[in-house]
Amino acid sequence: MRIGTSYKQHPGLPDQWDAIVIGSGIGGLSVAATLSKLADERVLVLERHYTAGGFTQTFRRPGYEWDVGVHYVGDVSHPRAETRRIFNFMTDGELDWAEMGKVYDRIVLGDNSYDYVKGRENFRAHMHGYFPGEKEAIDRYLEKVLSTERKGQLFFAEKAMPNSVSKGFAGTKLDDGMRTTREVLEEITQDQELIGVLTGQLGNYGLVPSESSFFIHSLMASYYFGGGAYPRGGSSRIAATILPAIERAGGEVVTNAEVAQILLDKGRAVGVRLLNGREFRAPVVISDAGAANTFCRLLPRDAAQATGVPTKVDQIGTSIAHLSLYVGLEGTSEELGLEKTNLWVYRDHRHEENFKRFQEDINSPLPLVYLSFPSAKDPDFDRHYPGHSTIEAVAVVPYESFEGWEHTSWKKRGAEYEELKASLSERLLDKVYKHVPGARGKVDIAELSTPLTTRNFAAHTHGEIYGLQHTAQRFAQRWLRPRTPIAGLYLTGADVCTAGVVGALMGGLLCASAILQKNALDQALKQETRATRAKTPRHV
Ligand SMILES: Cc1cc2nc3c(=O)[nH]c(=O)nc-3n(C[C@H](O)[C@H](O)[C@H](O)COP(=O)(O)OP(=O)(O)OC[C@H]3O[C@@H](n4cnc5c(N)ncnc54)[C@H](O)[C@@H]3O)c2cc1C
Repeated sequence: MRIGTSYKQHPGLPDQWDAIVIGSGIGGLSVAATLSKLADERVLVLERHYTAGGFTQTFRRPGYEWDVGVHYVGDVSHPRAETRRIFNFMTDGELDWAEMGKVYDRIVLGDNSYDYVKGRENFRAHMHGYFPGEKEAIDRYLEKVLSTERKGQLFFAEKAMPNSVSKGFAGTKLDDGMRTTREVLEEITQDQELIGVLTGQLGNYGLVPSESSFFIHSLMASYYFGGGAYPRGGSSRIAATILPAIERAGGEVVTNAEVAQILLDKGRAVGVRLLNGREFRAPVVISDAGAANTFCRLLPRDAAQATGVPTKVDQIGTSIAHLSLYVGLEGTSEELGLEKTNLWVYRDHRHEENFKRFQEDINSPLPLVYLSFPSAKDPDFDRHYPGHSTIEAVAVVPYESFEGWEHTSWKKRGAEYEELKASLSERLLDKVYKHVPGARGKVDIAELSTPLTTRNFAAHTHGEIYGLQHTAQRFAQRWLRPRTPIAGLYLTGADVCTAGVVGALMGGLLCASAILQKNALDQALKQETRATRAKTPRHV
């Protein structure tokens, strides 16, 4: 599904804009829509790919469509949930959500499986049921998750404030959040199976418990306590429904428009130059391309080095890379018995050991395979693709295993690469058949993306799926905020907040707050309330 208009179809684009956004991921679109809606700014969004949306894009093959980076979204199930209201604000209520039902995640550790059930008290009760001897530990865990998540609100609000106001708020105030997840959990319990279960969503932030910060763990866990939901009509609806707000204010979302450089004048960002040489100017330049791309590739080298940021980006490091097997099947989700629940399939509870073994040798057993069933989650799928269904099997993989083909081009990477892909596809399909027996004999298409696909289509140079690593070190970085050391240059998206659709969306609101110097989240919620009231019929 292509969203946005290609650069070639825009011969008359003006040179001057109120703001320019590099990249049309949810972080880029959300800041553009907020500036458009709250300040009536004309924003130019430039996207290198042929469609807008970044990781919210979808792609098609005859009879099928798959999302690439949205399997479920939290905090949108209830009509008045804050995140849902923010989406309402950006999309004028045009984005609809389909709930995933009672069980959003199932954690499979070897032969045992554990359900994550919607509603915090249900979650607690189920965990108590699985681990009756660990009730106190589970209660203590939930307390810590919630108190750490609450601290996040001030932590992120601080990021939108001017430096002079914000000093003293950040980093250390996160307390447990600045420790590793394993440190915090091992203080609460010695039951390794329980720790394995409670960290069963680790793929949502891409780090094993001994490396992830308890902060990201708490944000992700609590974010889904209210259940999961999927964008009705597929994840491309996210970009499609945000776009009109940008266009209504006179802005444009232009695809096939790769930014080669951010232009500086006396140290201030004043515009961008595309790969084809065309220049655009604006007093505000915003990058959704990630901190690494922005500071290590898009800024002139000397100016970037002078900020010290490239070294800090290197020190934090980039997140894991992944494989995704896109499976298309003959038969509807109902016929094949596909459920909405995501399956997190691990060898056993020893996450660190299993991931390390695989990092060192990708022929060793896969430490985690994540299975998602988009056709079962989307109530519109059957209407658009009758008689078909889809599965996505995702696994983390070291980028280094694919680095050797970095300089080859898409679809022309050679026989050895194709062989590696074929063997990995087979291993992922085996997992699909084991956990979804109804899929056997029904597979019509199975197409594998590798870290080089991510590099090619999303410009994440190490195939990283979540930008910078979500370690405690990352959250201690005061420079990682919308306002950069370069005047006029701002960052948006996952890197200024956290990975995830909602993390990147919030990154956009933080960025808009920093630019407009007002609380954009608060203003957005107020505007949404007024719009909802205006739509609600009055009863006399
Ligand atoms: C396999 C996978 C599964 C996921 N599942 C979920 C999930 O279930 N739920 C969830 O909430 N999150 C999920 N995520 C994470 C989520 O999709 C991302 O964290 C989020 O969408 C990132 O948004 P962003 O705007 O920060 O960046 P991106 O979406 O990466 O957007 C950046 C954009 O910038 C463009 N760009 C880069 N350089 C340039 C340039 N020089 N010129 C012009 N354009 C440029 C890129 O092409 C891209 O479109 C998943 C991610 C992956 C990969």
